[in-house]
Amino acid sequence: MDMEDLAEQIIRLKEEQDAILLVHNYQRPEIQDVADYLGDSLGLAMKASKVDRKNIIFCGVDFMAESAKILNPDKRVVHPIVPPHLIAKCPMAAMADRETVLAYKDEHPDAVIVSYVNTTAEVKAVSDYCCTSSNAVKVVNSIPEKKIIFVPDEHLGNYVRRSVKDKEIILWPGYCRTHVRIPVQEVLDLKTEHPDAIVIVHPECTDDVIDIADEVFSTEGMTKYVASSDATEFIVGTERELGHRLRKENPGKKFYFGKRAVCPNMKQIRIENVLNSMKTL
Ligand code: SF4
Repeated sequence: MDMEDLAEQIIRLKEEQDAILLVHNYQRPEIQDVADYLGDSLGLAMKASKVDRKNIIFCGVDFMAESAKILNPDKRVVHPIVPPHLIAKCPMAAMADRETVLAYKDEHPDAVIVSYVNTTAEVKAVSDYCCTSSNAVKVVNSIPEKKIIFVPDEHLGNYVRRSVKDKEIILWPGYCRTHVRIPVQEVLDLKTEHPDAIVIVHPECTDDVIDIADEVFSTEGMTKYVASSDATEFIVGTERELGHRLRKENPGKKFYFGKRAVCPNMKQIRIENVLNSMKTL
C-alpha cells in the first residue's frame, strides 16, 4: 500500500472511529501530514482536553500520551503500538524513577520537586510542580520555595538556574540524547556558512549551544517566532523533523538543522502503526 492509500484510510477511519489524531512536531513527515493538530507536548495535551471526539490517537512518545490521558481521564487515548518495541519511549523520561526521586526528597527535606513534563506519570505523582520547556522559568519564579530539585533534564534545569534569581536549583543527571547531539562547533560552522541566519535553540541543548543562540524557545515558541520574524534564514537547534512543519508554514524561508539531531524513539512510530491502532483502538 502506498503512502497516499495509507493516508486516505487514516482520514476515513478518523470519522468512522470518532477519533482525532494528535501528532508531535518530531514525528515522521507523512504522519504530520495527516494530523488534526500538530504541536509540542503541552500544546497537544491541552488540545486533547478540548476535543469532543471519543478517541484520541496520540503520535509521540510514552509520557506525552500519558499526560494526555491524565488531562482527559474520560477519553480513550490510543498510543500506536510499534512491534517489537511495543511503545515509543522517551529515554530522558526513563532517566528518573519514583523511588530515586523520593530518595532525593529525603536527602533534601526543605526542597520541592519541579518535574519537567518529560517524566513518567509515577514521577509526576510525587512531584510538587510540573512545567514544560516553554514555562519552566515562569513556573520556578512563581513558586514560594527557594530550594528546588529539577527533574529530569539537567540542561533545561541549568537554563532555569541561570534565568531565575534567589533560588537554589539541584540538578538531576538526565538529558535528552537528541539535543546533546547538537555540538556547538556544528552550530558555529552553520553560522559561518549562513551569516545572516538567526540561531534559535531548544533549552534541552547544552549550555555552550544556548550561550551562542540568538533566542531560546520550545518548539511551539520556535514556530511562532519564525512566523512573525522578518528574517528569512534560521539555524534551528532541535530535532530535525520540526523542519517539515517550519518549511510548510513558511515557504520562502530557509532552515538549517544539525545533521545528527534525530530522535530515533520518535521515529519508531510508522504510518502503518497509526493505521493499525486506528482499526483496533
Ligand atoms: S527528543 Fe529527547 S526528550 Fe524528546 S522524545 Fe526524544 S529523547 Fe525524549
